[in-house]
Amino acid sequence: MSELSNEYPTHDPEWVKDMHADHYLQSWSKQGGRPRVITGASGSWFWDSDGKRYLDFQSQLVNANMGHQHPKIVQAIKDQADKLCYIGPAMGSDVRSELAAIMNEITPPNITSTFFTTGGSAANEIAIRLARHKTGRTKIIARYRSYHGATGGTLSLTGDPRHHLTRADMPGVVRMLDPYTYRLPTGHTDPAHCPVAQGGPHLEELLMYENPNTVAAVILETVVGTNGIIVPPDGYLQSIRETCNKYGILLICDEVMAGFGRTGKWFAVDHWGVEPDIITSAKGINSGYVPLGTMSVSQELHDWLRETPLPGGLTYAGHPLACASGIAAIRAMQEEDTLNYATQMGARMREELAKLAEKHPSIGDIRGLGMFNGIELVKNRETREPLVPFAAKGADAKPMSDMMAFAMNEGLYLSFYSNVIRLTPPLNISEEDMMHGLEILDRTLEIADREC
Ligand code: PLP
Repeated sequence: MSELSNEYPTHDPEWVKDMHADHYLQSWSKQGGRPRVITGASGSWFWDSDGKRYLDFQSQLVNANMGHQHPKIVQAIKDQADKLCYIGPAMGSDVRSELAAIMNEITPPNITSTFFTTGGSAANEIAIRLARHKTGRTKIIARYRSYHGATGGTLSLTGDPRHHLTRADMPGVVRMLDPYTYRLPTGHTDPAHCPVAQGGPHLEELLMYENPNTVAAVILETVVGTNGIIVPPDGYLQSIRETCNKYGILLICDEVMAGFGRTGKWFAVDHWGVEPDIITSAKGINSGYVPLGTMSVSQELHDWLRETPLPGGLTYAGHPLACASGIAAIRAMQEEDTLNYATQMGARMREELAKLAEKHPSIGDIRGLGMFNGIELVKNRETREPLVPFAAKGADAKPMSDMMAFAMNEGLYLSFYSNVIRLTPPLNISEEDMMHGLEILDRTLEIADREC
C-alpha cells in the first residue's frame, strides 16, 4: 500500500459531512446521513479523514476489479484528457475504435460489436429496447433474484425488493424462478431433476402460458451478484439458450458484475461456452474510474443494424476518457495475468471459507466462481432458516448491520444483501491482504453465530 495521503479533500471533513447530509442525495438510502469522508485509496485499500484505513473486500460496488488508483488506468485517463476530452458519439476516434476492437476479441465468438454507455442500467435499457425492436415482440422474461439497474425499464426487470420502490412499472415483464440450488422450489431436493434448476423446462412451462410469439427476450445475470452470488448449475445456460433458439427469443446476459474477470474469465458465459445474442457489462471494464458500460451484440444483430437504426443513443456514448480507461484496464489485466491470478485466489478463498464453516454454525452455504464469492447465513443449518429474511436490507437488519459495523471498525469493508455476504475483493489483491480480511471475517461471524 502506498503512503496514506490526506491532501484531499481540501475542505474540513466536518463541513463535507454537513453538506453531504443536507444537500447530497444518496442512492437507495434514507437521506441525511453523515458519511465517512474518504481521502485516498491505493490497491485494495482506502482510508478516511481520520487516517483510518480499510481493506476493500467489496471492490466498492464490485467494480474496482484492478483495485484503486491503478497507475496504468490513471495515466491513460490523464493522457487522453490532454489529447481529446470529448467528441460527439458519431465521430471516429482512435480510443473508440480500439476498445470496440478489443471487445470483439474478448467477447464470445458470435459477439462482434459494441455500443458504449455510461453504465450498466443504460446498457440493459438499450438491450431490451433493441430486443423488442428486432423481434417486434414486447414481453421480457427476467428472474426474481436479479438486479438490472435503476432506470425505468431496468428497475422493472429487477426482481429484488427494490422494484417495489417504483410506481411506474414497465409493462411486459414476466418473472421466472432462479437456479438457486441451495433453495430449490418446494418439494425439490435434487437440482438434476428440478425444472427450475435445469432452466429450459421451466422456461418452456412459462412460455406455454405467455405465448412464445409475444416474448422478445430472456434477460438474466449469468452469475447473480447482488441477490446472493448464485452460480447456475452446469447445463442451465445451454438449456435456456436452446429454448430461446427454439422460439426465436433473444438471450441477454447481464454481466455488469460478473464480467471482466470477476469469475476468472472475461465473461462468465465463457465457463459454459454459451453464446448470448447480447451481453451487457460495465463496472470492471475500467474498474469504475470513469463511468462506462457496454452492450455488445451478435454479428446477426449487427448485420440487421446495418439496415435499421439503433433505437437509442447517448450524449456520452463512447466517451473518449472512458474508452481510454477501458483499454488501459483490459491491457493491464492481460499484462498482469489477472484472470489466472483471480481464479487461483478465488479457489484459495473458498478453501479458507470451508474452514470457517467448520467453526461457524451460521454459515449455511459457500458458493462462487473465481473471485465472485459469497456466504449465506442461516439460523439453523438443518432447516436453512435464513438469518434475516430475503426482503430485509442487509444494512438495516440486525445482526447484519452489527456485523457490518464490527467489520468496518476492524478495518474491513464488507457489504451485505439480505443474509448473504458478498466477498468480492479486487482481482489482484495480495494473498496476505486476503488472509487478513478473512481473519477479520472470522471474528465478525461470531456475531451471526449468536443467533443460531
Ligand atoms: N446489472 C447488474 C448485474 C448490476 O449489478 C448493476 C449494478 O450494480 C446494474 C446492472 C446497473 O448498473 P449501473 O449501476 O452502472 O447502472
